[in-house]
Amino acid sequence: MTGQVKHGAATVVENIPFSFDEEEFQKLTHIDLSGPYAKAVAGLLENALAATRPKALYKVCYIDNWTDDTVELEGIRFTSRVLSQNLSEVERVFPYIVTCGTELDKALSAVTDVLAQYWLDGLKEMALRTAVEHLKNHLVAEYGLKAEKLSTMNPGSGNKNVWPIGQQRQLFQLLGDVEGAVGVRLTDSFLMMPNKTVSGIFFPTEVNFVSCQLCTRENCPRRRAEYTGSVDLAGHE
Ligand code: SF4
Repeated sequence: MTGQVKHGAATVVENIPFSFDEEEFQKLTHIDLSGPYAKAVAGLLENALAATRPKALYKVCYIDNWTDDTVELEGIRFTSRVLSQNLSEVERVFPYIVTCGTELDKALSAVTDVLAQYWLDGLKEMALRTAVEHLKNHLVAEYGLKAEKLSTMNPGSGNKNVWPIGQQRQLFQLLGDVEGAVGVRLTDSFLMMPNKTVSGIFFPTEVNFVSCQLCTRENCPRRRAEYTGSVDLAGHE
């Protein structure tokens, strides 16, 4: 059963239900589960699924200070014009970390075959997507939000000046003992470990914002919106 436990001022959401979707897995990994690799993949998945425990950490924060290109939460300053404009009408936000889980990462660390690693990375991606959706639904239910009016921004998503990846440092600081809560570590080069982990801020908005609208990366398999080069922040300027 899904559970939530307090970790300092933040909340850990754990025991997130995960059900393996064959079709999604095949799409992500470009493998045919009825093809020649079927037996090998089934063996790998059996062990990996037993260790799949995606989880999330989040906090409820209120905006202390706001300028055209900075936002302060609990005295921690974030610098991004797009973030600032997105939050110009908002008081309450939900900084978060969502991960496929260290258990799965550990279980897969013994796998050395490159193709097998690629397949299992697909499983980690699925676990992450499930956990992101679960956290979103959790916030909607707990805080009376509307799902279609909940947007997110992630440091490093979109073109590099949208919200610089280095500000993950402040996000981790804001969330407290992230490693103790959900096992996620931030490296000096701002990579999060395990690799299938995302950090960001959920916020209620009248404008449906997606970082992909400001990202020129071509052929990104995770693109969720067309590149527009700008966001309609009507009423926010
Ligand atoms: S297009 Fe891809 S890289 Fe760019 S913001 Fe969207 S998901 Fe991220």
